[in-house]
Amino acid sequence: MNPHATILGAGLSGALMAIFLAHNERRVLIYERRPDLRKVDMDAGRSINLALADRGIHALKQAGVFEDVEPLLIPMRGRMLHDVNGQLSFAAYGQRPHEVIYSVSRPGLTRVLLDHARRRYGIEPRFLQAARALDFEHDELVMLDEVTSETRRLRLAPLIAADGAGSLVRRAMIGQLGTRVTEDVLEHGYKELTLPAGPGGTHRIERHALHIWPRGGFMLIALPNVDGSFTMTLFLAQYGAESFATLDGRDAVDAFFTQHFPDVTPLMPGLAREFLEHPVGRMSTVRTERWAAPAGHAVLLGDAAHAIVPFHGQGMNACFEDCFELNRLLEATGDWAHSFNSFEALRKPNTDAIAAMALENYVEMRDTVRDPKFMLRKELSFELERRFPDRFIPRYSMVMFHHEIPYAVAYERGRIQARILEDATNSIDALDQVDWEETLGWVRERLSPLANS
Ligand SMILES: Cc1cc2nc3c(=O)[nH]c(=O)nc-3n(C[C@H](O)[C@H](O)[C@H](O)COP(=O)(O)OP(=O)(O)OC[C@H]3O[C@@H](n4cnc5c(N)ncnc54)[C@H](O)[C@@H]3O)c2cc1C
Repeated sequence: MNPHATILGAGLSGALMAIFLAHNERRVLIYERRPDLRKVDMDAGRSINLALADRGIHALKQAGVFEDVEPLLIPMRGRMLHDVNGQLSFAAYGQRPHEVIYSVSRPGLTRVLLDHARRRYGIEPRFLQAARALDFEHDELVMLDEVTSETRRLRLAPLIAADGAGSLVRRAMIGQLGTRVTEDVLEHGYKELTLPAGPGGTHRIERHALHIWPRGGFMLIALPNVDGSFTMTLFLAQYGAESFATLDGRDAVDAFFTQHFPDVTPLMPGLAREFLEHPVGRMSTVRTERWAAPAGHAVLLGDAAHAIVPFHGQGMNACFEDCFELNRLLEATGDWAHSFNSFEALRKPNTDAIAAMALENYVEMRDTVRDPKFMLRKELSFELERRFPDRFIPRYSMVMFHHEIPYAVAYERGRIQARILEDATNSIDALDQVDWEETLGWVRERLSPLANS
């Protein structure tokens, strides 16, 4: 087996994959088109944060890097919902103390992974090196040095393409190998804003929660940062009556926020300026038919293979799970081509499932959470989990807290569970009205015991 691999992209996927490979004594070269984010602030003062959950944590632990990551994490125990009158209601994510998710800075996490790779294994990515073209027939990757403008040619095999949602390698696979890819762009975009820290770096709203202002067609969310600030993200239609297109001036922005988010707007003094300066991000779901190129030449990893919308907080978690699984297969088979093919076969049904669940979760976060029936079903699902821990685990918990349950299984069982919850709560409005005999009968009848329980 060729001990030497090339990784394209030093983002979250590329950095963790490099650590896994180096941990198993493989030589790794990483190329990254951007400058080193440990030396240059590329997000112009914005702090982008992500939710890290069990799948991501499991992979980080297996790679031996979780201890370095821990100081960056802020536990979020549930959703804090803000209604339009400023009334708060809290819904826990899980029912056991460890069932929490963690807010983590994306650049901070990437820095820790890159530092770990350098310190432990002497791996230093080659920054400002952009892949420009790729030729599968001649086994060649054309790289451009962004500083000297020189180009050079590298051998492909084996190439791990962790070059993100706009992957050049994926585009080359479409053009040269006839790979089929669909990209469904969401009609909604997003914009990141800041809720600054209070005096002495304190958090001005509850620190251990993911805050949501659900408003039906749109929503605002907030995740805590270690410096006391929150990163706020507004998800809104790109066009239409209430949309990014109509929020085109200071007055329009102030009026929109004061009307829909009156409790938090006074805490955001830089709101209108930030809103007008920051770009609107786009979100899409990328589904790629084949991830592995023939003869072990290349494989797509992370967002390059399966970018998803962010509403389940699982994009990065799925990428980290990819790294763990690909490494496991390489260890088991010792063969790049075989591992790349098996990786695609194993992961694709799972990443298709999380893509679907992430889309469904957008409606849940911005709208369904306001429905009293939603809370009733959540209470019932916790009760069923208490009574049948080997059969009934709420879908959210399967995805966020159970790395041993593949996404595709969570999706399939989640469908069956949703029917049970719907049937049991259709004509009632409190938990004490549940017909337990009938409901427990449905659980036994429709759900087999979980394989790992
Ligand atoms: C608004 C938003 C919120 C999110 N929230 C969450 C969350 O809460 N939880 C979660 O788990 N996930 C979340 N995600 C998803 C997560 O950010 C991504 O899944 C993850 O960053 C993908 O990592 P990656 O390394 O595969 O790709 P990227 O992070 O895109 O990294 C790709 C790297 O490749 C480099 N590159 C690209 N092209 C080339 C080239 N031609 N040559 C050389 N280098 C190249 C890029 O510069 C980059 O460094 C969110 C995403 C968004 C947009």
